[in-house]
Parts: sequence; structure tokens; C-alpha cells
Amino acid sequence: MAYLAMRGSLATFGVSRLHGAVSRKIFQPLFSRWSEIEVPVAHVTNGVHFPSWDSPSADELWTAACGKERWRGMPDALPALVSRLSNEQLWTMAGEDRRTLIERVRIRLARQLRSRGHLPEIVSGAADVLEPSALTLGFARPFTGYKRPNLLLEDEARLARLLNDPTRPVQLVLAGKAHPADGEGKEMIRRWIELAQRPEFRQRGVFLEDYDIALAQELVQGVDVWVNTPRRPWEACGTSGMKVLVNGGLNLSECDGWWAEAYAPELGWAMGDDREYPKDERDLRDAEALYAILEQQVVPEFYDRDADGMPLQWLARVRRSMAQLAPTYSSGRMARDYVEQYYLAWAAELRRRTADASARARAMRQWEVRLQRHWPLVRIATPTISRDAAGWLFSVTVELGEIAPEDVAVQLYAEPCEGGPASRVELCCTAPNATALYAGSVPDDRPARDYTVRIVPRHPGAAVPAELSLILWQN
Ligand SMILES: *Cc1c(COP(=O)(O)O)cnc(C)c1O
Repeated sequence: MAYLAMRGSLATFGVSRLHGAVSRKIFQPLFSRWSEIEVPVAHVTNGVHFPSWDSPSADELWTAACGKERWRGMPDALPALVSRLSNEQLWTMAGEDRRTLIERVRIRLARQLRSRGHLPEIVSGAADVLEPSALTLGFARPFTGYKRPNLLLEDEARLARLLNDPTRPVQLVLAGKAHPADGEGKEMIRRWIELAQRPEFRQRGVFLEDYDIALAQELVQGVDVWVNTPRRPWEACGTSGMKVLVNGGLNLSECDGWWAEAYAPELGWAMGDDREYPKDERDLRDAEALYAILEQQVVPEFYDRDADGMPLQWLARVRRSMAQLAPTYSSGRMARDYVEQYYLAWAAELRRRTADASARARAMRQWEVRLQRHWPLVRIATPTISRDAAGWLFSVTVELGEIAPEDVAVQLYAEPCEGGPASRVELCCTAPNATALYAGSVPDDRPARDYTVRIVPRHPGAAVPAELSLILWQN
């Protein structure tokens, strides 16, 4: 289905920068003779619709700082305005939202226990789970293998120590559901439910069933930290962590999806790195990093208080996360990226192609048919390379047969080096006829052997290789 969709599309996008790169690898077979970086998959990172996810107290705070219309238009002024929010404002919001979440969790848990047929004394126990002043982690997702919802369970004793620290307690609110056919997902839910019933976890960990949008709204409004543990690079974007930004929640996530591009040490915390590991080794490393970050960074920063009981470093981090990340990961920014970078240009191209009884579209179709028919006879001779003032001068004879020189581009191509861009230089036709001579220079900061002559389709307005993926390389 994905191949079919891509063949029928003018442009294809990933939903984060990393997802764009992974998708170029996945779709390489459709463009087998093209370089991987030229596989036509761009990206627009997702954003979330903050008015759907903010708490009443967050809405009040943002309105005071930035006005009611803050998410409309260009939110360029938001970071400076949000940076002025005071510690008192941020800490009051966090406290109110945490209390509200805990009240709602207790109601939901009681309902859940009752519907499972538990005894009244167990059901009434739901009324005193969790504490309004304890560091609250939220963790909710479709329970499926790559999301690794059991990463925190890798070392249960260590988790119990973390949650039950007498002076610096941590509590977990979990939610999720599994696809009925996903045995692994269901097993992971069973383990969490079983764990949440044990005495050493009962006060500090709640698992809520039926994760849906209403429950997601309650969670993202009230948690201090959102935890996300996908197995890199499987998370296309991951939007749940974006939903906490507006409410002053912080992210602790695998360096995957949107977090791979949003993370900076002063904004939140990241597990993992961009190297490749065997699956089991990655899981062990990430679990160790998750515990270590919680124990050594998250918990100490939350409980490091000034004389007024406020965690100053924590609140500075919250302020930076709200100011710098929320405007960037809003659906307004996402919609604007699509419109400005892609839709306007393609809408104009559609109008050009369909004007005058689709004259241009017809011409393009003929161009495509011509190239398909005559491509097998195109040849590239061995180029000669000499030095000129500009660097390496390449001269090459190509046989185009029935193909007109303006229908193709003859290029010198070099793969990127050290993360730079690919080098692509057009050669000029110096003697146009059936056997045409092309020449052009490239700088000599790279060896001449890095460059290969190739011929690709060319037509004004055409998306190559998305619309026509013919390519011929020199032998
Ligand atoms: C946001 C949301 C998701 C998606 O979360 P990801 O982090 O992108 O996987 C799934 N389910 C619900 C109910 C949500 O609100």
C-alpha cells in the first residue's frame, strides 16, 4: 500500500526528521539506482493542537502572558513572552494540575476496580493512592513491542526503591491498551496491572485501562514528566510528549522521533544515542539510562528546593521547555510548513499544468513517453579529466539517440562527505548533435574519482525522480 501511495504522489513526507531519513531507506527499492539521500521523501515534523490539550490553569497562564489568539498566525513573539512567567506562576499551575490529575485518577481507579468485581475495601483503597506533592511521571501508549512499555520493569527492585524513597517519592500513572491480536502487548499490560497491586507499588503506581483521548487529556495536563521509551528508530514522530509542553510538563524520552530533533540538555532528558545496536543490547542500555537519569537528574532537580519550597532549576527548565518547544511543536507551525514549503508551490504547478486545456501536462506526458522509449539506447562514454582554473574539468561524450538534449540533464554527482550535502553539477552541452559533447568543472577539494557522470530526466516543473525515476550512470 505504501508503494502504491508513493507512486501516485507528487511528494512524500516523513513526520519527523529522523522518520524522513528512515523512510528514504525503506523506499530506496522504488528508486534503486538513485542515491539514498535522493529518494524523494522530505519531512514535516508533526505538531499538536494545544487548545485541545492545555489545562484550565495553563490556558489562564498563557492567556495572561500571550493573549487568547496566541496560537494563530506567526507565534514568533511567544518565546520572549513565556520567558517572563514567574516561578510562582509556574509552580502554582503545576500544583493545581497535579492535584486535579490525582483526584481524577482515584475516581477512575475506583470505577475500574469496581467493574472488575473487587471487594468494597479494595475499591475504597483507591481514594488514597498517590500524593499531591510527589514527582509524578506519566506514561501512556498503545502497548506494543517497539514502544517498550516495560523498560521501567527491567529491574523491579530498583524501580521500587525509586518510587518509595521516603523523602523524595516518585509516582507513576500509566495507561494503555493493546491490539487484541498483540499477545506481547497484552502480556505487558498484565505485568503492569499485577505490579500495581503489590503492596510496595500500590500507593505509587496506577495503571488505567482504556487509554483514549479523554484520558490522555487528563494525563498530559497533570504530570511533571512524560516518559516515552520507543526502540529507536521505530517511533515515526510520537506526539504524546508534545501534549505536555503547554502544561509545563517535561519530557524524558528515547532519542527518537520528534525528540531526536527537539531534545537539548537544558530542555529535558534523553535516553539512547544515534548509534546502531543489536535489539537486546539497546534495550539494556536504554533501561540503565532511564533509571540513571531518573535517579541522578530528574528526582534531585525536582526536590532541590529554595527557602520558599520552590525547585528553581526545575522551573527554569519548565520555562525554557514551554517557551522554546511549545511554539515549534504546535499544529499551527506544522500546517504552515506544509502550506508554505509544499502546498503553495504544488498548487501553482497544478495550475500551470492544467492551463490551456492541460497543454503542459500533455507535453510532460509526451516527454515521459519519449524518454521511456529511447532510454535503453542512451550511452555515456568514458570521461576525460583534466585540470583547469576551477579544479577538475570533465569532458564526456554521450549518445542521446532520439532524445533531445533539453529533455535530460548530464550531471557530475558525488556522494556527501562528512554529513555535508551531495555534490551535483550540471555539465554543459558544447557540441549538440546525436553524439553530444558535454563539459564542466568541479572544485578540486575532493578527488576527481569521487565524481560520476550520470544522465537524468529534466523538464520544467517536473519532480525528478518522484515522477520519473530513469537514471543512467557512467560505467
Ligand atoms: C497522542 C495520543 C496517541 C499518540 O501518541 P504517540 O506518542 O504519538 O504514540 C495515542 N493515543 C492517544 C489516546 C493519544 O492522545
